[in-house]
Amino acid sequence: MADSVPGNYSIQTLLAAAATDFGGAVTPPIMQTSLFTFDNYHAFAERMAGRSDDPLYTRVQNPTVSAFENLIAKAEEGEAAVAFASGMAAISSAVIAFVKPGDRIACVEHVYPDAYRFFEKLLRPFGVEVTYHSVEAFETDENLLAGARLAYLESPNTVVFEAMDLPAVAAHAKRHQTLTMIDNSWATPLFQQPLTLGIDIVLHSASKYLSGHSDTVAGVVVARQDLIDQIRELSLALLGGKLAPFEAFLLTRGLRTLTARMHQHQATANQFVDKLSAHPLVKRVLSPGPNVVPGLTGRSGLMSVELDGAVDIPAFADTLNLFRLGVSWGGFESLVLPTKIALEQAGEQNSMQRFGVSDRIVRLSLGLEDPDDLWADFEAALSTSAHR
Ligand SMILES: *Cc1c(COP(=O)(O)O)cnc(C)c1O
Repeated sequence: MADSVPGNYSIQTLLAAAATDFGGAVTPPIMQTSLFTFDNYHAFAERMAGRSDDPLYTRVQNPTVSAFENLIAKAEEGEAAVAFASGMAAISSAVIAFVKPGDRIACVEHVYPDAYRFFEKLLRPFGVEVTYHSVEAFETDENLLAGARLAYLESPNTVVFEAMDLPAVAAHAKRHQTLTMIDNSWATPLFQQPLTLGIDIVLHSASKYLSGHSDTVAGVVVARQDLIDQIRELSLALLGGKLAPFEAFLLTRGLRTLTARMHQHQATANQFVDKLSAHPLVKRVLSPGPNVVPGLTGRSGLMSVELDGAVDIPAFADTLNLFRLGVSWGGFESLVLPTKIALEQAGEQNSMQRFGVSDRIVRLSLGLEDPDDLWADFEAALSTSAHR
């Protein structure tokens, strides 16, 4: 679909202006069908033999899903994309397509906790070795990736939001012929395009900013055509975690307004960083800004604050009006997640415990409300919940 926008336009124009493949329709119809039939024997045989790429069966291909895939592939400057039923389906399917028993994955610390559980609880028992390294080690140790099949990255990473110098890590990986994969959910292609920085594979939890409306759970992977073909043929087809056409429709709709939403999230986040940094009850603000590393060009609305010991965090959470309590992020609504709650999440394999995160940290997802209203709410809760 996006091919119908000629020329070298910006992401903003591309996402808003791209036409669809469906006649004059400006949004793709929801192709709610499991299979596609063929006009004649020859056409059917050609498709089954892989000599045509007409849609055949919605588990591997559906035109509404393809419309979303084509649009996000353009935004990430990748050749192709493959969508999944969740961010975790995208992560697990992308990793499984490239690793086998005996391989090593080098993973960044403070990775998304369910990605960590996937590595530890599912991949390790199948004989895949996983080693964890700091952002700094990835950047400075040229031999860290020696013998590693895959570098699994997330930048900025989870809760502590450390940003990584991706061109440096991509250069180390090329030298060792290690495939690089990154979770780009925080920055979105608007603020970071990892494929243009030398990373091989980009993936997203599309449940967050790409959707933007907290109404769908989805994931997507973007890369070179041959890598996407491998993921589609192996793990999309055989594990079957496909995206539903209706959810793909919602995601295309989300992408149309991604630029406007990210600029609003950024404006609110900038205001919060300034005010939080000057607040006596805030010890630390964890929110990477533009250009702290090469290729990171903006600040999203997901950040953490470490609160002073005088703040009663449960009382603070219960005093907030506009901010609501919950997991996930990237929607129109503002949320807080006290790390103490995440640290106590059931299960012995908790990456936050392993890599160390202060239970004084609270994660904020700044939504699309008026930033002054949000700050007034936050500030009032902070001051009324502090012991004197
Ligand atoms: C939410 C999230 C995921 C998982 O995505 P789901 O769509 O919930 O499966 C992966 N990575 C990051 C950084 C996330 O925040």
